[in-house]
Amino acid sequence: MIHYEKWEGKAELLNPFKDFERETQVLEFRRDPLTGFISIISKGRSQYVMKYFQCDEVLLKELIEESKKNCPFCPESVESKTPKFPPEVLPEGRLRIGDCWAVPALYAHADFNAIIILGEKHFRRLNEFDSKLLRDGLLVAREILHSACKAYSDLKYATVIMGYLPTAGSSLLHPHMQVLAMKAPPNYVRELFVKSLDYYLLNSRNYWQEIIKHESEEKSRLIGRIGRIWWLAPFAPLKRYEVLGVSEDKASILELSNSDITDIANGISRILRFYDDMNILAFNMAIISAPLGGELKKCFRLQTRICARFGFKKPFLSDFWALPTILNTDEIFEEPEEYASKLRKYFSC
Ligand SMILES: [Zn+2]
Repeated sequence: MIHYEKWEGKAELLNPFKDFERETQVLEFRRDPLTGFISIISKGRSQYVMKYFQCDEVLLKELIEESKKNCPFCPESVESKTPKFPPEVLPEGRLRIGDCWAVPALYAHADFNAIIILGEKHFRRLNEFDSKLLRDGLLVAREILHSACKAYSDLKYATVIMGYLPTAGSSLLHPHMQVLAMKAPPNYVRELFVKSLDYYLLNSRNYWQEIIKHESEEKSRLIGRIGRIWWLAPFAPLKRYEVLGVSEDKASILELSNSDITDIANGISRILRFYDDMNILAFNMAIISAPLGGELKKCFRLQTRICARFGFKKPFLSDFWALPTILNTDEIFEEPEEYASKLRKYFSC
């Protein structure tokens, strides 16, 4: 019932660097089986583009030193420079688990917006995001969301998001995630809900359970399984080196057990190690939850999506150009089957 569609495209030109010989550049188009969104695979651009993922170490060192001076998330400043939650959410003001804190965002993006500070270190390489740190961060995220839902009964849609480095949209370097909760879902989340419900109404099956079943049998895009979380490369990735982690049985963040959270953290940590080995330092992540009241349990599953972003380096080329920004379409440079095969070894030990 899941339909995978791909087709070949080509662009013709007379190449000035080859004496104006005719050159055919091959593209591949893929359609996401659920959303219908297309993805362009332009392998020919891979060599030209890969250098933009790297960081300039001198500039990075300057950024680390400059940003550390006034960082509100460093341990000496957390208690004096970060806001507190109002007493109806958390009487003690801030929540701490291990070295991770939940504090309110000073300038909120949503009805409820918590910042989750990930540890005391101002800067980490991606191979330093160990699974214990990420687990504590996600535990504190789930706990503060519980408290927020008790205080504000109309919060219905929640996500946990993360950006790392300014090129991934993060204005503060110190590693942190955000919990956003509001009365309407973000646009892409709404699209996933609508399409998942359509699929369920048409097929009487949960698309996400179907995709786990299909991908675990087909294997070329399967990266690995940790506990009840299945990690795979999407058939038609929307972003570079995008990885999807789907829970086989949980739909909402509030349903996650401590061991589910440990498993999600473990998977994220492994993907970040893979990025580190690829010289990638900037990334985005989102954990997408079903509505918090238990709706859509039959047709949706909690999922984590991670993708790589361009690095911190002159000329600060943005990978968010007109095609993705306005037209909501993007290209990747390596087939999902290819990077899934490299990632698999990070999940095998
Ligand atoms: Zn800091």
